[in-house]
Amino acid sequence: MADLVIPQAILDDMVAHAKELAPCECCGLLAGTDQTVTKIYRIKNVVALEGAQQLASFDSAKIAHLERLSPAERAEIAFVMDAQDLAMAQKDMRRNGLTLQVVYHSHPHDPARPSVTDIKIATDYEEYWGKINLPVPAYLLVSLMQHTPDVQTYWIRGGQVTKAAVDVQQ
Ligand SMILES: [Zn+2]
Repeated sequence: MADLVIPQAILDDMVAHAKELAPCECCGLLAGTDQTVTKIYRIKNVVALEGAQQLASFDSAKIAHLERLSPAERAEIAFVMDAQDLAMAQKDMRRNGLTLQVVYHSHPHDPARPSVTDIKIATDYEEYWGKINLPVPAYLLVSLMQHTPDVQTYWIRGGQVTKAAVDVQQ
């Protein structure tokens, strides 16, 4: 695997996004070409919005599903990307000739490592990327557990997690 290239400004933007949404998790996508990231798409976290006034504008079936979950179960899923934001991001990528490189989210209270649920979801999606002719993206985690935010990137394939090499572009 060639190294991923991520600009410092985009790393800073993801950390800022994580801080804005804390104690909820933030999520989003990084797109670019040839493993070089050039654009960030912040995606609304449907779970983070639960209980907020915006609730009414969201898919009621999805919200009802979240409400049925216990707080522990809800914490386990922690983020669900808003479908409308995702569709807009995909459209923008296509228009600009970009492909998805990285899926990111934050762990406000946990280390910058994929949780069991994160690994399960990534594994479930692995086949899907192939079906729509896209490479499997890397997974980036922003942890706010320590005073200094920690950012780590991984490949998740066949349920196996490996560290991804990242070159930070100044
Ligand atoms: Zn997670």
